Amino acid sequence: TASENPDLKIAQAHTLKPIGEIAEKAGIPEDALIHYGKHIAKVDMKKIGEPKEPAKLVLVSALSPTPAGEGKSTTTVGLADAFSLKGKNTMVALREPALGPIMGVKGGATGGGYAQVVPMENINLHFTGDFHAIQIANNTLAALVDNSIHQGNPLNIDPRRVQWKRVVDVNDRELRNIVVGLGGPAQGVPREDGFDIVVASEIMAVLCLATDLKDLEKRISDIVVAYNYDREPVTVRELEVQGAITLLLKDALNPNLVQTLGGTPALVHGGPFANIAHGCNTMIATNLARSLGDIAVTEAGFGSDLGGEKFMDIKSRFGDFGPDAVVIVATVRALKMHGGVKKDDLNTENVDALLEGTSNLRKHVENVRKFGVEPVIALNRFPNDTEKEIKAALDWAEENGFKAALSEVWAKGGEGALELADQVLKAIDEPVKFAPIYDTEDGIENAIETIAKEIYGASEVQYVGSAPAALRRLKKNGWDKMPVCMAKTQYSFSDDPTKLGAPEGHVLHIRDLIPKLGAGFVVALTGDVMTMPGLPKQPAALRMGLDDNGEAFGLF
Ligand code: ADP
Repeated sequence: TASENPDLKIAQAHTLKPIGEIAEKAGIPEDALIHYGKHIAKVDMKKIGEPKEPAKLVLVSALSPTPAGEGKSTTTVGLADAFSLKGKNTMVALREPALGPIMGVKGGATGGGYAQVVPMENINLHFTGDFHAIQIANNTLAALVDNSIHQGNPLNIDPRRVQWKRVVDVNDRELRNIVVGLGGPAQGVPREDGFDIVVASEIMAVLCLATDLKDLEKRISDIVVAYNYDREPVTVRELEVQGAITLLLKDALNPNLVQTLGGTPALVHGGPFANIAHGCNTMIATNLARSLGDIAVTEAGFGSDLGGEKFMDIKSRFGDFGPDAVVIVATVRALKMHGGVKKDDLNTENVDALLEGTSNLRKHVENVRKFGVEPVIALNRFPNDTEKEIKAALDWAEENGFKAALSEVWAKGGEGALELADQVLKAIDEPVKFAPIYDTEDGIENAIETIAKEIYGASEVQYVGSAPAALRRLKKNGWDKMPVCMAKTQYSFSDDPTKLGAPEGHVLHIRDLIPKLGAGFVVALTGDVMTMPGLPKQPAALRMGLDDNGEAFGLF
């Protein structure tokens, strides 16, 4: 109901500024705007000049979340609005929402309450069509691979070893494992196949890591789509279709400009998930945000073990920057969950469980410190949190020497994060000795082991299923000196989603290693994590629609 989920109502009641005004505030010239209606514009990167001195970069991460999300996007937006209130020239850089969570459990990705990017329903539904462009670019490549096999197979592709999957932007478990090409010789070559979600597509990853169109085309050329009968890799370059695929993405590569409820300019662009992909918005948007303001506030998906780690080990490494400050969003309800409270009881006061659950938050703080940054905890206040619980969490932080502030941006917008903003500004001024946690030259096994032991608290890594053979293939092809993109459950530091808190001494199971040469990393699949999730028994889709006036309801 609206009272439980007022996000859409608040967004609909808000009077937005024309996007030209927001662009002016951000220092984006009028002729660089490609308008998508009154309140959304793409920024034509060809019209953007040389970047000035880069802004300070604030990364928002979180503790291990509940299925509902702990408010990273909300905090990112609210904190940026607080910086704006303090007179700082601020830019937000967020990811674009995906339809799986919108129709499923978590909801959209535009923040919540009085800390949102708007127009929220447009951003959550279709937006400027970037995800559709990524989807069709991905699927055009799939069609071109299968067509090459059908039309005489000049590249000698082994149909049993096609790596390139089709994708769709919704959770559809029926498509996880399928057979294509049925119906006889005129219908293609039958083979086993499967769909991933759009946010796991390597096209999404390359769009998010590319620095310009040329770099995008090079990355697309490098993608390995299959192996031939001699087990050698076949790339897009050999298929000679990198031009066509890049062409399909030329508009999608331009970042999308919108505004927060507080009128702060926000770039919302790209959206790989952080559990199965690298979890950060585009390099282009981050760099643009850094080149315009005093402070750029960005977010990476799920906890410091997933998006946070990948932001610092993958994106920062490629972008040659690092965060000047890191915020870890924590909530009373997630702390209680890590302290053993069942989902249905999370709204009942329970200080003991909360304190028990601080083990999880402590590990996230320690993880961020390992990258050379002292984090600030933002305790995101929910309506059902009690004063006792909030005090217990903040006292715990103080006793442990952790920086922390209460954040009330959901209820109050930027005004609710003024103290948090002060703490982050202080953190920005302190010297940061940022460095990624592993050296790629030491090889992929070292990268995996370092993350497993240092970030996940594991005692051992085991390569199971297809992984040992995949590891041999990586070495044979000289692909073992790239960063690793871990695919792991977001609920636990381990690969077992039921192990909450801060498990130690567990075994991390690597079940496959997938080279993503275009992205420039290797995806390591751990535990049972899936690149095509399913929808839950009671999907959010059951509660949404249009009212008699044609107004949307049910989005959150
Ligand atoms: P994340 O980015 O960490 O996944 P979001 O910012 O998307 O989390 O928030 C998840 C959901 O929780 C959203 O629907 C949002 O409206 C809601 N939410 C976030 N913070 C609060 C809060 N303090 N009080 C109530 N609801 C909140």
